[in-house]
Amino acid sequence: MRIDIVSLFPEYFEPLHLSLVGKARRDHIFDIHVHDLRQWGVGPHRQMDDTPYGGGPGMVMSADVWGTALDAVHRLGTQAGNKPLLVIPTPSGVLFNQSLATSWTTQTHLVFACGRYEGIDSRVAMYYSSQPDWAGVHEVSLGDYVLAGGEVAVMAMTEAVTRLMPGVLGNSTSAADDSFSLPGGRVEGSVFTKPPIWRDLEVPAPLISGNHALIAKWRAADSIRRTHVNRPDLMRDLP
Ligand code: SAM
Repeated sequence: MRIDIVSLFPEYFEPLHLSLVGKARRDHIFDIHVHDLRQWGVGPHRQMDDTPYGGGPGMVMSADVWGTALDAVHRLGTQAGNKPLLVIPTPSGVLFNQSLATSWTTQTHLVFACGRYEGIDSRVAMYYSSQPDWAGVHEVSLGDYVLAGGEVAVMAMTEAVTRLMPGVLGNSTSAADDSFSLPGGRVEGSVFTKPPIWRDLEVPAPLISGNHALIAKWRAADSIRRTHVNRPDLMRDLP
């Protein structure tokens, strides 16, 4: 997979050289290329925004600048015949979740367009949705709150997708046991490590019993308990 990220603040993405994602990049499991949007800005000041039609506060990022940027990134990534999927982070998009992250792992080319100010002129999403040499457009929200820009959302989405790709997680850690991948999409239960007693708090007996059936039963019950307490909205999906 190739991932291109276009942003006014490319430095935000330096941490993608660290940890699991950084190692997977060095192992060539996927490539990440970060581009400074300002190089496609217009005029001596590399302008990339303008006042909103209809009035109101703030500035809107121009379709013209984003069109030039996305066409250039498309050319960089399609040498192998890949059709890029364009992801536009926005609080008004569909909510990002594990199943969307999983669906993106089969794409050959992801392009993330990080908005700032009042966002990107909506004609960018309209235009690239209808282009046959693109795999479509997903407008996606990280959650029900408003960030200052798309960078933090794209960091989260990139990490969520790439850790699901074959070869990224070690053998000892399986994404199948993670929250939202468990049956019914429930969250993972409580986890413990040594020592068996810490500040008078004991590890639940089944987990130190050595009985695999008992451990599995305890984990399933605790996962349902935590889902009930923390995410009652997910309970309706449980079998
Ligand atoms: N006026 C916009 C609205 O209310 O929908 C918010 C614009 S926000 C200040 C600027 C940029 O931050 C957005 O274009 C988007 O790229 C990013 N952003 C903010 N909140 C986000 C969220 N919850 N999910 C994904 N991206 C977000």
